[in-house]
Amino acid sequence: MKILYTTQDVTNWREENGSDTIGFVPTMGALHEGHLSLVDQSKAENNHTLVSIFVNPTQFNDPQDFKNYPITVDADLQLLSALSVDAVFVPSVQEMYPDLLKESFHVPILTETLEAKMRPGHFDGVITIIRKLFDLAQATKVYLGEKDFQQLSIIQSWVKKEKRAEIIVPCPTFRESHGLAMSSRNVRLSAAGREKACLIFKILQEVKSQKNLQSPPELEIWARSEFHLFPAFQLEYFEIIDAQTFAPLADWEDSEHPLAVVAAFLEGVRLIDNMRL
Ligand code: AMP
Repeated sequence: MKILYTTQDVTNWREENGSDTIGFVPTMGALHEGHLSLVDQSKAENNHTLVSIFVNPTQFNDPQDFKNYPITVDADLQLLSALSVDAVFVPSVQEMYPDLLKESFHVPILTETLEAKMRPGHFDGVITIIRKLFDLAQATKVYLGEKDFQQLSIIQSWVKKEKRAEIIVPCPTFRESHGLAMSSRNVRLSAAGREKACLIFKILQEVKSQKNLQSPPELEIWARSEFHLFPAFQLEYFEIIDAQTFAPLADWEDSEHPLAVVAAFLEGVRLIDNMRL
């Protein structure tokens, strides 16, 4: 497995592999089985797989969240090496942002709602780094998790709008056995917190099972009230939306692809999840 530190290293590696198909998995590290499922899929579908590990400062709206973000590069490299990944790009901040303060790229897509509303500037930072990484990787396919559904949708829209060549491959959410969606931030939860956190999955499942019995607004009210029964959770939002337009649903007939989306703090850790209904 090659470890690439500079943008020039990636350009050279890319040239060595010429017209072979390249699968790319961008991550912020602290890898878990969710990330590895994306890597497995990339390996199955491409000649070579490139993974990037970069905690991107421009996408953190909360400086404390950036400071606390887990960094486990040595363990990550061991996991990727065991999967025989071809190359891993682990750049420094200076390498990706020679002039950090001047870097900003606004995406006028889905910017009014949910994650964009709760985390101002977050998706501008995501697209700023994705654009740089995509330009370097020149990948055939890029593997992104449905766990971050709005991020996936924004990147898909941006790729389409910019007429980029990469094919975006959405990958299903990998969960702990009790249902908690895997996330790098979960390591900041206590053991008891991890148990409690499965409430998110239970509520999503219950909403799904009630679909034909109650309207979307009724189910939103029910789900929010369930969270309020557990003061350990500070709910940011629970909404039922159309998975393509992100419009809130008044009626099931308004959408062929209804999606429940949720964000909540538990033990100071922000958890997000979603489920197709
Ligand atoms: P991150 O390191 O959190 O930026 O995530 C890197 C990629 O892994 C993103 O495309 C995420 O959506 C995806 N990902 C994160 N958690 C999961 C999960 N539990 N299941 C599947 N994909 C995930």
